[in-house]
Amino acid sequence: MSTILVTGGAGYIGSHAVLALKNAGYEVIVLDNLSNGHRELVEEVLQVKLIVGDMSDRSLLDDIFSTHNITAVMHFAAYIAVGESVTHPAKYYQNNVAGTLTLLEAMIAASVNKFIFSSTCALYGVPKFVPLTEEHPQDPISPYATSKWMVERILSDFDTAYNLKSVRFRYFNAAGADPNGLLGEDHEPETHLIPLVLLTAFGKRESILIFGTDYPTPDGTCIRDYIHVTDLAQAHILGLEYLLKEGESEVFNLGNGSGFSVREVIETAKEITGKEIKIEERDRRPGDPPILVGSSDKATKILGWHPEYPNLNEIIAHAWQWHQQRHK
Ligand code: UDP
Repeated sequence: MSTILVTGGAGYIGSHAVLALKNAGYEVIVLDNLSNGHRELVEEVLQVKLIVGDMSDRSLLDDIFSTHNITAVMHFAAYIAVGESVTHPAKYYQNNVAGTLTLLEAMIAASVNKFIFSSTCALYGVPKFVPLTEEHPQDPISPYATSKWMVERILSDFDTAYNLKSVRFRYFNAAGADPNGLLGEDHEPETHLIPLVLLTAFGKRESILIFGTDYPTPDGTCIRDYIHVTDLAQAHILGLEYLLKEGESEVFNLGNGSGFSVREVIETAKEITGKEIKIEERDRRPGDPPILVGSSDKATKILGWHPEYPNLNEIIAHAWQWHQQRHK
């Protein structure tokens, strides 16, 4: 049985990927520094081995690779807040770029050459056309997005020089929760739209702030492509199988191909929760392009990926189910 090292497996997308890996019959080891992740998710809910530590700790990595027979690495560990990256870029380059570089060097030293990387559609910057395809020019406008772009460049050079094969997934907006209610989204502090809207519906927050109402979109608010986290997780299994069959390095968008505005998300959440959700309009948040909607045709064609939960109502309903359980 193959053993997969999952960095950031105690976090939101990582934990859903661990669940998908377990369900597909893989052995999993999670490396997480618990800066944002949740120990109980890994140890109690998922019941896989957790190593608490940092990917910038080279001797820890060497120890992990020499102790365990790791076949491939799925790399989710990263800081993710666009706004914070604008004010604290050093934190993002240090962790997301330098930390990843250490991880990659340890892999090469241990002759592990299969890597699945959480990248982002944010590296396209302000779209010149939508839906965005993988060929769209790259022009990241936040340090967060630039940090992911830099790692993508490193990965392509490392394939050429060291034969490190990677699948890079450019996520659109991950949302929703495990349909069986086992896992969900629990960031501290929370910055993402859907969980914030649901926390507001739940009465944990007074209101939802809309960042920017003067964007060049039909209702003036940003449009995003929300993709169910369980569908993202499934794509990782397909990406892994692709690399295990000696596939060449590839990059794939992962999105639904349809976009919803901030106001539409709030309206849908009102319908699903049956609650009033108070809105406050604010200025634009730095680093936010007006519209991000992707084409995932390439992932469908090459990996055979088809999102099982493409519907925004279902995405929000699963997230709501988890929030109700979580905050009982
Ligand atoms: N957003 C908002 N209010 C919030 C959080 C987010 O209006 O409290 C907007 C944000 O400006 C963006 C969209 O919702 O246009 C999605 O943001 P999120 O942080 O969920 O994901 P991102 O697109 O940054 O990955």
